[in-house]
Amino acid sequence: MSEPEKKRLAVIGHPVAHSRSPAMHNAALGAMGLDDEWIYEPPIDVAPERFEAQVREMAAGQFVGANVTIPHKEAALAIVESASPEAQAIGAANTLTFRNGAIHADNTDTGGLLDALPEPPSGKRALVLGAGGAARAVVWALIHAGVKVEVWNRTTPRAQKLCAELGGTPVTQPEHAAAYDLIVNSTSVGLRGENQLAELPLNAADLSPRQTIVDMVYGGSSELLTLASRIEAQFVSGIELLVRQGARSLKIWTGSDAPLHVMRNAALEGLSG
Ligand code: NAP
Repeated sequence: MSEPEKKRLAVIGHPVAHSRSPAMHNAALGAMGLDDEWIYEPPIDVAPERFEAQVREMAAGQFVGANVTIPHKEAALAIVESASPEAQAIGAANTLTFRNGAIHADNTDTGGLLDALPEPPSGKRALVLGAGGAARAVVWALIHAGVKVEVWNRTTPRAQKLCAELGGTPVTQPEHAAAYDLIVNSTSVGLRGENQLAELPLNAADLSPRQTIVDMVYGGSSELLTLASRIEAQFVSGIELLVRQGARSLKIWTGSDAPLHVMRNAALEGLSG
């Protein structure tokens, strides 16, 4: 008798070869004792014009779900049969689930951010830097968690549009950094080793130990996190966000809690190698 086929998962992006998701999810599936039944396959690199056909093939085949990353997060939402309220509001999905050929979309970046914060942020004041896809998920999550959100972006009209759609207040010149309980860098500044403090409206001397600093960038250098660590402020790294959104995706697909430390170690291993 032939072995039953495994339930398949994968990440779809363009480019996506660098993704830490396969290592992170396979390590988790192993630790959960599910690797006989499930497999997270190598990344699937698909250009935008082939995206929908690729996802439909996966939904019709042995795939149970997929993560979606740049540049397909918005396109993903457009092709699904159903979507969670946050995916609909943000206009982007990072997690697809396939059931009987139908596709459901979730956005686990929102819950992942809240899981990663050291304490519930309700009632706090936050400065979100950036107005791209990552910032949209951050703003939605923080506003729904009861946070007073201000949004700065290099290109101001983009921040104004984001706030008009999701809430929050666009600011062209944020108050000095110490005025905020929480500062989230959701720009891509730092990804290519840029000097974050030179490009962002933050003055190192204004950051304080009572703040939480989140840097969504990973795989580059994070001056912000080095600084946060030096002044003993709480900080959340891009890797932690990656782990937390991944753990939520895995829970959606398998119904079980994922081991965070195993995912964290697997995600970090590739970066240091
Ligand atoms: P995106 O849609 O392309 O947006 C990029 C953002 O960065 C825009 O707000 C852009 O401002 C800003 N920016 C780029 N260069 C800048 C500069 N030199 N100075 C100031 N602002 C600059 O990208 P995204 O999808 O939002 O992703 C943003 C970052 O978050 C990426 O590094 C991505 O890898 C990371 N991310 C991490 C996770 C995680 O799990 N850790 C999840 C999602 C995303 P303009 O509008 O002015 O161009």
